[in-house]
Amino acid sequence: MIRETNAKVVLQKSRLPESPYCLNPYVGCTHRCSYCYARFMRRFTGHSEPWGSFVDVKVNAPDVLSRQLARTQISGPVLIGSVCDAYQPVEKRYGLTRVCIKQLVANDIPFSVLTKSRLVLRDLDIIRMAGKNASVGISIAMLDDSIRRNFEPGASAIQDRLNTLEELHKNGVQTYVFIGPILPKITNIQAIIDATGSFVDEVWGEALNMRCGNRADLVEAYTSSGLSCEWQQLAKSEQFWKEMATTLTQACQSANLRQVGFYRH
Ligand code: SF4
Repeated sequence: MIRETNAKVVLQKSRLPESPYCLNPYVGCTHRCSYCYARFMRRFTGHSEPWGSFVDVKVNAPDVLSRQLARTQISGPVLIGSVCDAYQPVEKRYGLTRVCIKQLVANDIPFSVLTKSRLVLRDLDIIRMAGKNASVGISIAMLDDSIRRNFEPGASAIQDRLNTLEELHKNGVQTYVFIGPILPKITNIQAIIDATGSFVDEVWGEALNMRCGNRADLVEAYTSSGLSCEWQQLAKSEQFWKEMATTLTQACQSANLRQVGFYRH
């Protein structure tokens, strides 16, 4: 269900390590990732529908952003898409992300887009205008698209994401691959770095977060992918996450790529 709403704010302070502010033109996300922890947003918006089945469109986002920018001193990059994908399919119709990015560029404010959608290429023209003030990250947790369909049914196919990174890179945009969430028994960090290393400037990593009511959806996605329960033990294992952190660091070092972080929840 798509509902038009009026927001009071679109730019919010964030506790994310690399981004003091975040910007979300939508509430909800039809990419429907089984592991998504942004589902906590239902609590604040009165939604009881399943996560992934609704989107609230902040139709006044450009006006609100313009007012906020006039009175806010921004001290670092704005993350676009922290609790939604700002390039989910509804963006094709409303174009709110595009207008918001235009405003950031006009105000010389650095920003980073994190997405799983090739639709970001539509806005290559304005992203390029931002030069070094812009970076675009593409999330990839697996390379097998048949598994991707179980975990991220509404998002772009993996090959499209790889092509998107390549296209952005060819056009001089700073890019990063966001390897996350790292899914036990599925995510192959080395293979993802091998597949993306020539098109990215940085690598980010994030561990699976299971403290947000996503367990049932994860169990279903793992079961549909033919994987047993062993992943649940690994997800709880401190040793496993230490190994993942080491693997990520070593893979980045051998590919000569900057590792920005490895986020745990
Ligand atoms: S793309 Fe991001 S916000 Fe959207 S469902 Fe997936 S994890 Fe959640």
